Amino acid sequence: MKKQSSFFSKIISSFAITILILMLFIYGISSAIIKRHYKSTLTQNLINVNKSISYKIQDYFSNAEKLDSFIKDFGNQINTRITIISLDGLVLADSDKDPKQMENHKYRPEIEKAINGETGSSTRYSKTLKTEMLYVAIPLQNDNQIYGIVRSSLYMNDVTFLINDLRKNLLMFSTFIFLLSIIISAILSKNISKPVELLIEAAKQVSKGNFNTKVFLGRNDDINILAESFNEMTEEIQNLFQKIKREKESLNCIISSLDEALMVINIDGKVILTNDNIKKITTKEMTNRPFWEIIRDENFEKFITKIKNEKINFSEEWNWDNKYFLCSFGYAHLKNEIVIVFHDITKKKEMEIIKKEFVSNVSHELRTPLTAIKGFVETLIEEEKQEDKLHYLQIIDKNTNRLINIVKDLLILSNLEEKIQIEKEPINLEELIKEQHKVFERKMNEKSLKFNIISDKNLSDFSGERFRLEQMFINLLDNAIKYTDNGKINIYLSEKRNNVEIIVEDSGIGIKDNHFPRLFERFYVVDKSRSRKIGGTGLGLSIVKHIVLLHDGNIQVESKVGKGTKFIINLPKV
Ligand code: ADP
Repeated sequence: MKKQSSFFSKIISSFAITILILMLFIYGISSAIIKRHYKSTLTQNLINVNKSISYKIQDYFSNAEKLDSFIKDFGNQINTRITIISLDGLVLADSDKDPKQMENHKYRPEIEKAINGETGSSTRYSKTLKTEMLYVAIPLQNDNQIYGIVRSSLYMNDVTFLINDLRKNLLMFSTFIFLLSIIISAILSKNISKPVELLIEAAKQVSKGNFNTKVFLGRNDDINILAESFNEMTEEIQNLFQKIKREKESLNCIISSLDEALMVINIDGKVILTNDNIKKITTKEMTNRPFWEIIRDENFEKFITKIKNEKINFSEEWNWDNKYFLCSFGYAHLKNEIVIVFHDITKKKEMEIIKKEFVSNVSHELRTPLTAIKGFVETLIEEEKQEDKLHYLQIIDKNTNRLINIVKDLLILSNLEEKIQIEKEPINLEELIKEQHKVFERKMNEKSLKFNIISDKNLSDFSGERFRLEQMFINLLDNAIKYTDNGKINIYLSEKRNNVEIIVEDSGIGIKDNHFPRLFERFYVVDKSRSRKIGGTGLGLSIVKHIVLLHDGNIQVESKVGKGTKFIINLPKV
């Protein structure tokens, strides 16, 4: 047998309890009402009996014997116990007993009332008859004068029997009504619960992912509206689900077709998505595991901490397992997730290294022959007397110098690139610049350039690498002199928060601002012919930038053509 749904049993049990309580209440009330009504009818009957007796005994009330035999006769005829009592409670006649044997009745409740002229009634256990009795007493009157009491009584056993019989019938009727109500309630409950059960079953199907489920009730009421809404809802969910599925598929397609490795981690560091190319990083299964269990790398953990704290996208180069990656870290604010794309730059990096090594090796190799050529050319110049040959030798000498300078700068650069850490010492920057000034004093005087160092009075020593900082000032001063024909060169030294600010300012030819972005690149020169003429290599500012970066600082340029140039360097003190 099919198990009834809990919804149906709830409705039916609520109905049953309500009907049962109502039935019990009605049964209780009606049996009390019947008992009261029955008793009052009996009382009225006894009053009538009493009244008819009172007329009949008026004549021989004073004759005790006659009175008693009349009462015994009458009582037997109507099957009712009758007692005649005097005003002082003496039993004068009784239909069942010998009046002389009976005790005084003055203080029986019904008698007390009758003595006072009222109708008295009482239900109680009779010691004489050893059974429960209903007593009704009225006064006997003559010319408004009470002269005795007549009392009739009935066995309550009969009454109780009758009432019980009535109650039995009532109970049977109530049971019948109760069962009928339960059957009607069951039909009604089924009518309500059936569509609800269908809806519940359909909802279960939908929760299992079966969005095709529909409910058709074929009714025309509120539940039908509910079913229709349910059907519309499942259709809407199905459409949405399809849309999400398609979007997910196309996203998966994009992700897997990416040439780069991709990894998405949540805020707790758990990997929630990767693509196939993640094999470039690791072949271990990463999904649902914390990233640090697989990628054990201090730098990578630092990057993750950085994006978690700053929530700003950035890219960093990362060396892992003999490979180089340019990692783009993106923060998805909506879901608090971190998206990492790994661009494999190993080949590019290797090429760069080969290029640097090549430049460094070539520079090394060129240095000795160039120095030899320079020596021989200088000797030849000294010995040559012929003007035209001397001119050619001087051109060779000039170009050899230029080559030597380029080789020297390239070696400095490759040296700087290899360097990861600097050897710091406390340096008085003002003193250091003054020493460099001596080197350039002659050149400055030739152009009549004024030179000033404007320094903060309390400027403390700066901790940096002396040799590199000298190199930086040499390059900047050399440029300032080269590109300034008249006027001045000023160097400003000041402390700003935890930085030392160095400004090298000249009143020279200036630089157009469209050159600023490339100015610090290797071999970048603004005016090639001019640079060649004055022996520039295009490497000076590149060296300056490397030295600034080695000291964790930054460099900016401000310039106006014809007015002069300012190089502003900020170096952190710690
Ligand atoms: P170079 O050896 O040619 O001076 P640098 O790398 O030192 O190479 O400088 C790059 C270019 O920047 C120079 O060619 C020059 O045009 C420009 N430059 C550098 N310093 C100054 C300056 N103080 N005033 C004007 N132009 C400058």
